[in-house]
Amino acid sequence: MATLKLFNTLGRRKEELKPLRDNEVGLYTCGPTVYDYAHIGNLRTYIFEDILRRVLEYNNYKVKHVMNITDVGHLTGDNLGDADIGEDRMEISAQRTGKSAWDLAKLYTEAFFKDTERLNILKPHIVCKATDHIPEQIALVRKLEAKGYTYKTSDGIYFDVSKFPTYGELVGQSLKEKKAGARVEVNPEKRNPADFALWKFSPKGAKRRQMEWESPWGVGFPGWHIECSAMSTKYLGQPFDIHCGGVDHIYTHHPNEIAQSEAAEGVKMANFWLHGEFMTVEGRRMGKSEGNAYLLEELIERGFKPLAFRYLCLNTHYRIQLNFTWQALEGAQTALERLREHVRNARANGGEPAQGKVLPEARERFLVALNDDLNLPQALGAVWDFVRSQRNPSDKLATLLDLDRVLGLRLSEVRREAELEISPEVQELLAQREAARTAKNFKEADALRMKIAELGYEVLDTPQGPKAAKRSDATPKP
Ligand code: AMP
Ligand code: ZN
Repeated sequence: MATLKLFNTLGRRKEELKPLRDNEVGLYTCGPTVYDYAHIGNLRTYIFEDILRRVLEYNNYKVKHVMNITDVGHLTGDNLGDADIGEDRMEISAQRTGKSAWDLAKLYTEAFFKDTERLNILKPHIVCKATDHIPEQIALVRKLEAKGYTYKTSDGIYFDVSKFPTYGELVGQSLKEKKAGARVEVNPEKRNPADFALWKFSPKGAKRRQMEWESPWGVGFPGWHIECSAMSTKYLGQPFDIHCGGVDHIYTHHPNEIAQSEAAEGVKMANFWLHGEFMTVEGRRMGKSEGNAYLLEELIERGFKPLAFRYLCLNTHYRIQLNFTWQALEGAQTALERLREHVRNARANGGEPAQGKVLPEARERFLVALNDDLNLPQALGAVWDFVRSQRNPSDKLATLLDLDRVLGLRLSEVRREAELEISPEVQELLAQREAARTAKNFKEADALRMKIAELGYEVLDTPQGPKAAKRSDATPKP
């Protein structure tokens, strides 16, 4: 088996992956906070993690992928330099919309999985919600308390980082430096600036929280970080192989997870820590609070395929910032369409993937790039060299579909021209959609696309104009 090297933030170097249990890999990825829609910057991180999982599987590892859903406890201050201040995002969202925090969590979790499905991101084997694991989180805080790592303030139970000497190792920064760092201290009751809340008390008085639980320390809710420690250990054990998130997690969330888990269990939390770089807009991080975030839905409304966005992400290495522009997305959509065209042509030339063989030299070049810290831009280069080469159509298809196990561009769903023939009903809907798009009525166009999809077809915006093809994944309605 070719060796797979990954850049480990812990130690800041590429290391060969050596799974803890034979060929099984435990993978934990920090999931969304479901107080709002995920933006395409967030989705870039989930695409990177999906690629990681697919590369592991392509290397014949059996992956157990766990992702949490943060539906409580992520405060507004948590990303602003000093954690544990501000209000719970779920509660604010509930106040703003008049909906319950529970309903919002459900709504945005469903929206998240709709987006990830459209991007062909594989669903984690285990998706676990913070609110479903309150007893586990309380048990972990109790364990830390019994070992002397905690203290109580007027608003919660805190972790004392000075008791955990390797705190901040992930950042490559010692606790001493961190103490002297530029973080503004807001909570004077904290012993050290980097201390963080394990359990927060519900505020006293009229403003009652919607999400709160009894605990040995009184009614309250868990701090943001404890859920990942409690749930990763529950589902993957400790240590496990790989832990991922966006680069922002390197500085607070992940060091805190490490401190909690390792202080409680006395063993390493995870062997590898991988972090995806930001998506930016004009050089600034894309973020809801920055006001520069786009949703996948907006891309679709502008006529882009979700998979064009996936292609755009594949084309930049995950450790490099990706500056989003509409022009770059256009380029990605064109490239994706060209790739699909190659598949369509191979089919038109009589290619049948089942009758072809996966060509080892193409696979090898692709794998070498993947196994060098997920070098997808280089792997895509290998794909393009391959599609442009003269091959027997069946071998070409078999090979491309094999490579697409990692790319995830749904190339197996591309049909030959003859299969693009469709019923008059779908034809009519297609014409209506085109008219709506021309009139810039993107909502209507999207609704029509959904209707076409319900009938079991996907819309293909080909160089010859829009067409429809039978979806291989569809169960058409009668
Ligand atoms: P959140 O829902 O805010 O907890 O974020 C979900 C994931 O998206 C986390 O792993 C973040 O690190 C990541 N993330 C946030 N902003 C960006 C961005 N601009 N580009 C890429 N990833 C991001
Ligand atoms: Zn986490």
